[in-house]
Amino acid sequence: MQNVVKNFNLIKQEITDKKNVKLVAVTKTFPINHILPVINEGHTDFGENKVQEALEKWTSIKQDFPKINLHLLGKLQTNKVKFILPLFDYIHSLDSIKLASKISEQQIKKNFKPKIFIQVNIGDESQKSGIELNNLEEFYKRCVDDFKLDIIGLMSIPPFDKDPNPYFVKMRELSNNLNLKEISMGMSNDYHEAIKQGSTFIRIGSKIFGSRT
Ligand SMILES: *Cc1c(COP(=O)(O)O)cnc(C)c1O
Repeated sequence: MQNVVKNFNLIKQEITDKKNVKLVAVTKTFPINHILPVINEGHTDFGENKVQEALEKWTSIKQDFPKINLHLLGKLQTNKVKFILPLFDYIHSLDSIKLASKISEQQIKKNFKPKIFIQVNIGDESQKSGIELNNLEEFYKRCVDDFKLDIIGLMSIPPFDKDPNPYFVKMRELSNNLNLKEISMGMSNDYHEAIKQGSTFIRIGSKIFGSRT
């Protein structure tokens, strides 16, 4: 438990002078008692990647700590969208028109507009989710014009076995082209590089909470 707070504070220190960088503490697989010490440090931004797990873990905690922002990082099935608003304040994994349309419908129904990142398949990997680079501009326009989504930026997970730097650079470029302010990139192993290339949301799990089993 002490270690978790220590790990957390070390990363916070590293980014104290980087005012644009926000830390999302990724809590997937960890029980709430493992996370509470970080909540008690005053941290507000937490990430999960499964809807069911998040609902069970965060619904009541969020009522106790209304300042908490919950970030959905993992694949979102369209039939789950109705469960995630207003629990999740941010969605980092918008990856299809069908999903955009569903979120659009639900944000009206729930009168709650989540902040959204478009996930980009930056390494053009067939096994990974995300919008292809060629379709990105058109997809972005439809999200804003047709679906009235609050798109705040782009998100990506570079290929895990390659140098992430060229992908981070590319993300910066795409983001500039669309005039988007936020970039969600960088995890435990590569957040320093991601920050150098302009990341504004780093998503860190194991470096704070330990390895997942
Ligand atoms: C699990 C996960 C993270 C955190 O990964 P670590 O390597 O533990 O820091 C970040 N982003 C996404 C999308 C994840 O699924």
